[in-house]
Amino acid sequence: MASIGFIGLGNMGGPMAANLVKAGHNVKVFDLVPENVAKVVDKGAHKADSAADVVTDVDFVISMLPAGKHVKSLFVSEQGISAHIKKGAMVIDSSTIDAASAKVVGEHLTSLDISFVDAPVSGGVAGAQGGTLTFIVGGSDEHFNKAKPVLEAMGKNIFHAGDIGAGQVAKICNNMLLAILMTGTSEALQMGIKYGLDPKVLSDIMLQSSGRNWTLELYNPCPDVLPNVPSSKGYEGGFMVDLMKKDLGLAMEAANQSQSMTPMGALAQNLYQILSAQGQGNKDFSSIFQLLGQTKH
Ligand code: NAD
Repeated sequence: MASIGFIGLGNMGGPMAANLVKAGHNVKVFDLVPENVAKVVDKGAHKADSAADVVTDVDFVISMLPAGKHVKSLFVSEQGISAHIKKGAMVIDSSTIDAASAKVVGEHLTSLDISFVDAPVSGGVAGAQGGTLTFIVGGSDEHFNKAKPVLEAMGKNIFHAGDIGAGQVAKICNNMLLAILMTGTSEALQMGIKYGLDPKVLSDIMLQSSGRNWTLELYNPCPDVLPNVPSSKGYEGGFMVDLMKKDLGLAMEAANQSQSMTPMGALAQNLYQILSAQGQGNKDFSSIFQLLGQTKH
């Protein structure tokens, strides 16, 4: 079993660290919010006194932080903690951040003889709690194989996307497509409803036709077409609008850097920004259905 230092015990990181403990790993934890630390210590993790302490004398460091600036300031800045990580250890960053930052962190750590993979996740809080996350890993073959047994304690599917940064790119490609599909599905359903169609009948027809897609089949945005999805529970739970807005921002950054044409992604970003500005940031991302239900004048 490995010795692991875990930094960032929020909605995702808390249950992920708890699953590492459950799998028998020796886990030290740190977060700026003491209550988040206490919850994981209750599950058998050891409390570290500082970010420097949590990475000292461990074989693996896992971070689950809000954004690229937090990851860079921890691992790359002057006041960062890299000097406390032992040579030969591995850092796994599971935060969703821009690929450029992942590369900067990877280069810096590699120069200190510390290996690095970016390993963003999909599967949300339920996946973190149930240990069923999908990890999308960027790094060398050797580093992927080293990280995999640790990631398996927190996830079900572990993909190797390519070199450092590729995990982040694959994740935002997927989430950009998801936003586009959710927006398109909502638009089609709302137009049918305006013509008096029953959304369930229309969904059944499109599911047997060429418009079939994941959002229509498993995450229908129209209330009461499917049971147990956020749209049928007041758009509570699920994947928050503000997190989708963040991922679309990262997708547009990546599009600019790679000079990719992403007009559909840009439009989806625009719509999610409007939804968030209307106070829906904490609702599930399928609530874009409500925005597109407004009548055009
Ligand atoms: P969160 O805000 O709940 O947790 C982040 C934690 O990091 C907080 O507890 C915060 O106190 C801590 N933190 C911030 N800076 C720190 C520092 N310098 N040292 C120690 N701790 C620090 O966020 P989350 O929902 O757990 O998401 C974490 C990451 O996972 C994000 O990058 C997010 O985009 C990604 N993600 C989230 C979901 C989701 O459904 N919540 C799904 C997939 C990916």
